[in-house]
Amino acid sequence: MGVKEVSVMLELEVLESYAQSLDRSLFLDEEYQSFASLNRPLPIGYGQTISQPTLVVEMTYLLSPEPDSRVLEIGTGSGYQTAFLAHFARRVYTMERVGPLLRQAKKRLAALKFTNILYQEGDGSGGWSEHAPYDRIMVTAAARTIPPELLEQLAPLGRMVIPVGPPDLQELMLVTKDLAGNVKNQVVELVRFVELRGKYGWMEEKKRE
Ligand code: SAH
Repeated sequence: MGVKEVSVMLELEVLESYAQSLDRSLFLDEEYQSFASLNRPLPIGYGQTISQPTLVVEMTYLLSPEPDSRVLEIGTGSGYQTAFLAHFARRVYTMERVGPLLRQAKKRLAALKFTNILYQEGDGSGGWSEHAPYDRIMVTAAARTIPPELLEQLAPLGRMVIPVGPPDLQELMLVTKDLAGNVKNQVVELVRFVELRGKYGWMEEKKRE
């Protein structure tokens, strides 16, 4: 299944034009800024990467936030994906385990005049129960399995986009919840993300072995 075959509300063209208008170099360290316009993942420090713009567009399209949506994002990273969410949704709750990345993202997004983002440093694999339920959940690191806490924190009629699989290759899953709370999982495509750490991440699994 490809992104175009999944039922969504947001228009791809609208997302693409937002991507055109958002300068990706603002989310990169100086040494990588000249590569910003390449459609490639790039390093953002701490062993992490910013995704290629087409994937960010696709994942936002799949998530399809609405103007009144409250969105939980796990893995703020550079804040690039966060900007898309904050532009199309009412409020974004974003979590990042690497403190310096979170602080930098916060500074960048504040400079872009976003005022609808709440930031939390720490392990986001168990979600952020304080503000649940969320209409949308976006995970931008590879999980071992879909965290049950995230499913619990997803509102009825909610959507979650999450890469699930081992460190080198994952299935990008679209998880939808109906009004009665029934959950449906669809595999959209294969992707490659950095590992989700913490509970439901890969590192803890290795430690247990
Ligand atoms: N969406 C980001 C890229 C994310 S890279 C962007 O547009 O730049 C994945 C991010 O997830 C990394 O910054 C990593 O530190 C973070 N991460 C990994 N495991 C996490 C966890 N358990 N909780 C919160 N953040 C996590």
